[in-house]
Amino acid sequence: MISIFLKLYLIFCLFSCSNSTNSNSKVPMMLDGDLFNSIETSKSVKVKDGEGFFSALLRLDLSPKQALVIINKLRDRVELSGVKPDEKIVLRFKNSELFEVKYFKNLLQTHQLMLKRGIWVYSLIQKEPIVEHEIVKGTLRENSTLIGDLTRLGVEEGAASEVVNALMCKINFRHQARAGDNFKVLLKLLKINGEVISTRPVYINYRGELSGEFETYYYTDKSSSTYSAHYLENGQALIRSGLRYPLKKMHIRSHFGHRIHPVTGKRAFHRGVDLRGRVGDPVYSVASGKVISSGFNKYAGKTLAILHRDKTISHYYHLSKRYVKKGDWVKINQRIASVGSTGRVTGAHLHFGFQNKSGKWINPMSKRMIATPKLSGARLLEMKKQTRKIKQTLFLVENDLVNNFLLVNLNKNEDVGYLF
Ligand SMILES: [Zn+2]
Repeated sequence: MISIFLKLYLIFCLFSCSNSTNSNSKVPMMLDGDLFNSIETSKSVKVKDGEGFFSALLRLDLSPKQALVIINKLRDRVELSGVKPDEKIVLRFKNSELFEVKYFKNLLQTHQLMLKRGIWVYSLIQKEPIVEHEIVKGTLRENSTLIGDLTRLGVEEGAASEVVNALMCKINFRHQARAGDNFKVLLKLLKINGEVISTRPVYINYRGELSGEFETYYYTDKSSSTYSAHYLENGQALIRSGLRYPLKKMHIRSHFGHRIHPVTGKRAFHRGVDLRGRVGDPVYSVASGKVISSGFNKYAGKTLAILHRDKTISHYYHLSKRYVKKGDWVKINQRIASVGSTGRVTGAHLHFGFQNKSGKWINPMSKRMIATPKLSGARLLEMKKQTRKIKQTLFLVENDLVNNFLLVNLNKNEDVGYLF
């Protein structure tokens, strides 16, 4: 009895699963000169989490051999290892023979293979979004926040927090923002079929009595997206990237500042925080940088120090093992060492310290911003070029001089790759 139910349940599952992932449709079609109806069918599938292009094709009932033919035709044109969940693949068949493959990479790009006289022909179908600009400006209201005021003015929440994140590198909102401060944002909207598919603040102006005035410009780097960000006109990046933690789990055993030393019992200044950890636990670099010392002394034990791009230095003490040496470049979150109990300690832990660019010891827990690169050379020149363009657009939009012709020309050939 139970087994019958189980079987029924399994059959139901198979049926509903295949229904939810594949959609089949049959469209009978009359071809000129054909005596018989040629039956056209299509099948589609959405890439699942963690699935590759090959297995997605197999779910469309292609044989492994057929799937490989398709992959070999596409792989020079599109990075198939970059397949993402929810991307759509559509196959079309004529009398059960596959004749078209469409891979919908995103809203703007579709890769197509068509069988023409026995040969697969590739084409990229590209939709051009319409670019529009919009200025949003206002005054910070009493008991309000900049995010609140921007969204109240109709700015989409993601774009509003992008504005705040860029400004936070320069303005301490808690202490420096006041009702009556002025803000102005130039938004770049990309639209397809009248629908906004992306909103990006490309110019931000904030002016307040306590904060001073800041103007930022969005720069799109053609070769490396890590540089695409909001900048001051002089090329200083406004990237707010929180520090990564040096340990997987952060539990502070002893805080920064004055304390009674656990070994000597004397009152002393603690130049960092002690983090709970066991011998062998991995220690990670909290930001990218260069190892400037790998040392040993009887108090701190085995140590590492990393100099970061903003000239601050992070310190790691009492290590058991080190995996980098002096002069090495390390990436953010790279494993650099193991927790230990070397030096003068009561037990295994990680002492984690931070020096600001003038050498003063600061509380590592309150350090927030670390990677603020400044553009130079060709990048700075390109950024200045883009800044001029943004200023032009701002002028046109602000003075209501925009007509479609001007805008189309301003934004021609612009890279929208950062969208995806
Ligand atoms: Zn310590």
